Amino acid sequence: MKIGVLALQGAVREHIRHIALSGHEGVAVKRVEQLDDIDGLIIPGGESTTLRRLMNLYGFKDALQQSTLPMFGTCAGLIILAANIVGEEGYLDKLNITVQRNSFGRQVDSFESELDVKGIAKDIEGVFIRAPHIESVHGEASVLSTEGDKIVAVQQGCYLGVSFHPELTDDYRVTQYFIEAIVKPTVIEKV
Ligand code: GLN
Repeated sequence: MKIGVLALQGAVREHIRHIALSGHEGVAVKRVEQLDDIDGLIIPGGESTTLRRLMNLYGFKDALQQSTLPMFGTCAGLIILAANIVGEEGYLDKLNITVQRNSFGRQVDSFESELDVKGIAKDIEGVFIRAPHIESVHGEASVLSTEGDKIVAVQQGCYLGVSFHPELTDDYRVTQYFIEAIVKPTVIEKV
């Protein structure tokens, strides 16, 4: 599979490394035309306000709203995929969820935790950096993982979103799941 990583901001190289470790080809996506040439897209973390501004500027908002590409958002990428953001307007509206930004408290800027992620593994290494959490899921979206009483991973059809940063560890199983269990079946279905 050929997987794009939106390369406007964030840990692009780290995601490409995880795609390669999963046995697939990763490419940095900087222009909307490249979307025609990939099987799935990863939207990395960073700062969602900046990311939104850049996505508007380079035409990614319209292109991705119309696109049926499978997408995987990590941290700020999860915020980008959400239908609702507390106190702000939702953006791509791909995941039927409400997210709360920076929700683990200012004093806990970042932390690590072992997560049980449904369908993937019980010991996924989760790195949280000024992370959002998912306040509620609606319609078809289903919860894959929680940290304490907060939802931190969801899937809805070909869309996957997590609050944490799998790409900052050596544990590439979440990326591998996205490619093998979501992108591959979607591509086969399209043929
Ligand atoms: N706090 C950031 C935001 O709300 C997300 C942080 C991250 O992606 N590590 O956009």
